[in-house]
Amino acid sequence: MLIEVSILASGSSGNSIYISDGEHSFLIDAGLSGKKIINRLKKIDVDYKKINGIFVTHEHKDHTKGVGILSRRLDVPIYANQKTWAACKASMGKVKAKNIKIFQDEFSFGDFNIKPIAISHDACAPVAYVVYRKNKKLVFATDMGYIKEELKQELVNADLLLLEANHDIDMLMSGNYPNFLKKRIRGNKGHLSNDAAAEILPNLINGNCPQILLGHLSQENNNPRVAYITVKNMLNEKGLIVDKDLKLDLTYQDKPTRKYKIK
Ligand SMILES: [Zn+2]
Ligand SMILES: [Zn+2]
Repeated sequence: MLIEVSILASGSSGNSIYISDGEHSFLIDAGLSGKKIINRLKKIDVDYKKINGIFVTHEHKDHTKGVGILSRRLDVPIYANQKTWAACKASMGKVKAKNIKIFQDEFSFGDFNIKPIAISHDACAPVAYVVYRKNKKLVFATDMGYIKEELKQELVNADLLLLEANHDIDMLMSGNYPNFLKKRIRGNKGHLSNDAAAEILPNLINGNCPQILLGHLSQENNNPRVAYITVKNMLNEKGLIVDKDLKLDLTYQDKPTRKYKIK
């Protein structure tokens, strides 16, 4: 069976990821309006009525804006850990009791196995998601100041990896953000830079030619070309060639990516 993935939106104005094996389909985060998410699903030829669930990484608005409304519209469960639920319940509006799913650890969803991993970010209990199906592994890791050891291990040998490349450090430091915000972004609980993403990637690639996607790019402190080149150059330095040893693509704030098919 094929797994399909599309990053519907990525960045500080809204995040959402679509994953399906044909039987079960779900979103990781829904940080745009319900209407916009439905539109983006249409753009990649997915009937939004097929979505069976929504998994939340953390309570920030750019990840939760449309979660409540989509749960009501589609009558589907929302999965989050206890603290994240507590933090975003008020802003979600009324959610049916049967659609409130609280996980503690790994859980299954159809033939998928979902493993939440704690990450370092300024939210209550933020997680990255590792999604397994048979021998395939997909990892979605954004919104983190640095990569914790436990997550590092999970990033190795993924078939598809969405990794944060939030900012170019020079652009951030010479840009217009106030100092407290620059500090927050660069801090341990902030966001991962292009350099940090570029540094870790060569350690994660083990001959399986994974699909790497760069995500949560800042619109002020990054640009797609800079992010792509920074990562590509670092990989080249380590002897890894894009399109031979790995596939490298960007994700977007204003449009969905194509549908990646994992066989
Ligand atoms: Zn975010
Ligand atoms: Zn966040």
